[in-house]
Amino acid sequence: MKGAHVVRSEQAGSAPRQLFDRIGDFLTAQRLDPDPANYAFAYAILAYPDAPLAQAVARLTDGGVRLTLRDIEALGGEVTPGTGSERDRADGLIAQTQLQVEGFADIIQGLHAETHGFGRELAESADRIRQQQAALDNGSAAVAEVARITAAMVARVRTAEARLESATREAAELRAKLEEARDNARRDPLTDLPNRRAFEEAFASHAATDATMWLAVCDIDHFKSVNDRFGHAVGDRVLRAIAAALREACGNHLVARYGGEEFVVLFTDMDAGSARATLEIARELVATKRYRLRETDEPLGAVTFSAGLAPVAKGDTARAAFGRADRLLYRAKNEGRNCIRVG
Ligand code: GH3
Ligand code: MG
Ligand code: MG
Repeated sequence: MKGAHVVRSEQAGSAPRQLFDRIGDFLTAQRLDPDPANYAFAYAILAYPDAPLAQAVARLTDGGVRLTLRDIEALGGEVTPGTGSERDRADGLIAQTQLQVEGFADIIQGLHAETHGFGRELAESADRIRQQQAALDNGSAAVAEVARITAAMVARVRTAEARLESATREAAELRAKLEEARDNARRDPLTDLPNRRAFEEAFASHAATDATMWLAVCDIDHFKSVNDRFGHAVGDRVLRAIAAALREACGNHLVARYGGEEFVVLFTDMDAGSARATLEIARELVATKRYRLRETDEPLGAVTFSAGLAPVAKGDTARAAFGRADRLLYRAKNEGRNCIRVG
């Protein structure tokens, strides 16, 4: 507590040993380390039991409740931040955001405790003024007391408000980072398409409604030979081009990179004929494109994909529907590639 050592109290002077013991008991009961910051905090409470701080602590610990580090911070004490073990970045950000939210609650509680304590002091002083004025017809000491309390109250409320403001700013920044981390976890960095995880989540949320769904599994034909002939970097560019073509042809329907050179399209609220026609447009678009090496303009030759298109049955999991569409894809591969088989 800032300034706790500046003022000496009557009690501290007359019974230092008892005060020291009570500080020890307080630190033990609150499971606080006996470091200088915690000692000063305990001293400020126990040496001045009638002060607003001691009363705020009494209210918070009423019924044997232990103070949290956040309580201490909100009341003006100093705490050393804990380290905490976070499994990954997203989890860490979630935990931090939760801490921020808890921080708000504590700050507001602290603010309330302070204004409440000062409000009562103000009311008591006002009473004293009336009594003193009646008795002595001289209220100047009481007026000075009210002025002191009011100034202190205003200062504390301002401090609390500034902390609340900076906590709000920090929380907004954390929320933005959290959203970014969540988005990154569901996006394929090469093609910028939603990834398998995003597809499975979208599938589950559509399956929870009564929407009609068709699932297509598309696999690039002889893609290994693109890598073998032109290198992995060119293979990556082809993957990006095919991702763009699928997205262009499939409009609002979810196109995701399932893995490797496999893509899925989740057609929702569409009948079999329309889903098939849309997928045919995508197949044509990819197959008729002339792919060339950027550096030399050398043609890569035709790049095609094969696909299996299956209806999603009620109660299907993404894995079950994928399995069915994948078997149809296998047929398409066996029956010449660059074609679609529908279940
Ligand atoms: P099929 O017509 O039977 O599907 O033949 P394929 O060559 O496409 O199939 P195969 O499973 O033998 O090979 C897939 C290739 O896709 C092998 C792998 O290196 C390549 N591949 C998977 N992911 C990537 C990637 O991110 N970038 C590149 N450049 N290649 C990838
Ligand atoms: Mg494959
Ligand atoms: Mg393939």
